Amino acid sequence: MRRCWVLKDERRVPNLHCCPTMTAQANHRCDEHPNGLDCPDLFVYYSPVFREYGLVNHVEHEVGIIDFCPWCAARLPESLRDRWFEELSALGIDPWNAEVPEAFLSSSWWSSAPA
Ligand SMILES: [Zn+2]
Ligand SMILES: [Zn+2]
Repeated sequence: MRRCWVLKDERRVPNLHCCPTMTAQANHRCDEHPNGLDCPDLFVYYSPVFREYGLVNHVEHEVGIIDFCPWCAARLPESLRDRWFEELSALGIDPWNAEVPEAFLSSSWWSSAPA
C-alpha cells in the first residue's frame, strides 16, 4: 500500500462523496480529536488538497492511499498530488521551504466549485 504524508493545515469544507458512509468519513469532525487522524472513529482520511482518500492506520500513524471506496466500491477520483507539486513549482514555489498560497491549501486550486 502506498503511504503518503498529510498536509496538516489544509482547509476542510464538508462536501459530498461517493456514498453516505464515505461522506460521513471524509467530513468527519470530532471535538475530542482536533487532529482528526488521532480519532479512532476515523477510518478513511480525505485530503481536499490532493483529492486523495487514504485508509488510516492508527497503530503506525500512517495513511495508505486507496483507489476504491471500501463501502460502495466506487472508483475514487485520481490523486492530484503530483500535479500539486508541478503547479507550485511552475509558480516558483518550493512547498517545503516557502509559504504555500491559500488556494493550494484547499480544493480551490483544482475545483471550480466554491470551497
Ligand atoms: Zn463510497
Ligand atoms: Zn474522536
